[in-house]
Amino acid sequence: MRAIFEGKVKKLITGRLERDDKLPDALLEICKQHGVKSGWIFAIGAVSRISVMTYEQRKKAYSEPIEAEGDYEILSLTGNVSLVDDKEFLHLHVVAAELVEGKTEVIVGHLVSAKVFALEFVLLPIGDVGLKRALDEQTGLKLWQK
Ligand code: ZN
Repeated sequence: MRAIFEGKVKKLITGRLERDDKLPDALLEICKQHGVKSGWIFAIGAVSRISVMTYEQRKKAYSEPIEAEGDYEILSLTGNVSLVDDKEFLHLHVVAAELVEGKTEVIVGHLVSAKVFALEFVLLPIGDVGLKRALDEQTGLKLWQK
């Protein structure tokens, strides 16, 4: 079943993380500090270590994480914050690339963790929606529920 929400973007929070900050922890901490429980997150920057996984739809389970170290550019980090069991939870996806001997190595997926080199982010808190996740039997994922 679809779940559609309507709310207002209350404000825009933007900033940069510092070298050696951890993702997603640092962004989660900022959400908590600013009282953001529902909203969208966007970022670009660079990381020196990254771990991603993908959801295996038929198995209804996440793959083993893929980890990489190097000079990874975050071309796009997109995600959101909502509540799981009344706690702030970040869902982040990432496209990152490294140039190795003239060839581009790309890593994509559901972000598990990363070590920041530099990162600029935007946080868009949405008021009046109260996004909450709960288990969706059809997908096996914790999805937004009305
Ligand atoms: Zn995901």
